Amino acid sequence: MKIKVNTCVYDSDTISQDAIIKIKSSHLNHQKSEFDCKELIAYSPFINSHDHLVGNWVPRAGTNNPYPTTDIWVEEMKQSESYLERNRVWFNDGKFDLTKGNANLLTSLGIYKNIFSGCSTIQDHAPNQKDEYYERFPIKVIKKYKQCHSLSMGNWWGGKSAVEELKATKGKMPFILHLAEGTNEKARSAFVELEKLNLLQPNTLIIHGIALTKEDIKKCSEIGTSICCCPESNLFLIGRTIDIKTCFEFNVNLVLGTDSTMSGSPNILSEIKIFKKQFPEIPMKKIFKLFTSNAQKALFLPDSYGKLNNETSHVLLIKKKNEDPFDNLLETEMEDIELLLHQGSPIYGNQDFLNAFDIKLENYFFFELGKTKKFVIGHPERITQEIDSILGYHKDFPYLPF
Ligand SMILES: [Zn+2]
Repeated sequence: MKIKVNTCVYDSDTISQDAIIKIKSSHLNHQKSEFDCKELIAYSPFINSHDHLVGNWVPRAGTNNPYPTTDIWVEEMKQSESYLERNRVWFNDGKFDLTKGNANLLTSLGIYKNIFSGCSTIQDHAPNQKDEYYERFPIKVIKKYKQCHSLSMGNWWGGKSAVEELKATKGKMPFILHLAEGTNEKARSAFVELEKLNLLQPNTLIIHGIALTKEDIKKCSEIGTSICCCPESNLFLIGRTIDIKTCFEFNVNLVLGTDSTMSGSPNILSEIKIFKKQFPEIPMKKIFKLFTSNAQKALFLPDSYGKLNNETSHVLLIKKKNEDPFDNLLETEMEDIELLLHQGSPIYGNQDFLNAFDIKLENYFFFELGKTKKFVIGHPERITQEIDSILGYHKDFPYLPF
């Protein structure tokens, strides 16, 4: 199948006008083999480097923000109405096994939050789960990683010590931890402790790093350590993000995450807008790397992720609303996504595209968004129905467009 688009963004440095994308997929039916989409821009699907799939409940928890450190918020969050309401669907019994009970209802909600905003790859920060957990999703949830919740709270949710977890990576997969998420002495001392434990490595992915100094950021750059910023979560909880200007100055491998909606915004499209609003001097072309090529590197993803080729089985087609393909993302809403293709499978988009694929209609949910007929893989409407029946009333989620 060939799709002729207005603009093709191969990566942040390479774009071409009036490009033709050839779709590689084992699901094509060859009945409709060409699409003329002059109003669309083709991108590589986005990568969300930090989410907690099981925690995408609303509204956000905590009323005493900004907090000097997130450790205080975590305890407050556990008493919040929002968290207690979520617990009626799935309660963590301390084992943090996301294949048990109703956890799948919540993690699927998290998957749809990402799908409807153009993400087809997610890092779900949680203790490592059984293989079946990662294999059940229609998009990629990274399986090969090691983690620690944070140095200040340890691996309270499961997993070995930070040192043992890092050792188990053998340098071949990311080692991910929340670090320095605050502004007080405890948050400021976290980086020193990370170094002391020999955890500052090229495969380390620091989440937040708000309290990191210029010197700390410089060290991350020299070593090749990646840092993930979750703008809305950081601003809401702590009142600031990591020193982004310095991250760009030292060319740190910076990536973007949403965090869960218990502290973050509805989805990555909002996070992109919030990041740009907070740092207007940084061009969108550079910000684009945070959820594409930089994320591919930080998460040890195959080369085919985070960039686009003329022949591909991963593509994201978005309505052109702005002449600049990077600035276009600042105007993109969920309904502007016309096709998200992952591993050759249509995941979300406009129904017209489905004519080109040999798919089982019963595996999809169809709905209208404005005047457009949309499809999405699976059945999110059944998930919300099930949640409503558990709660006994209807619950809305801002990241679901139906
Ligand atoms: Zn987090």
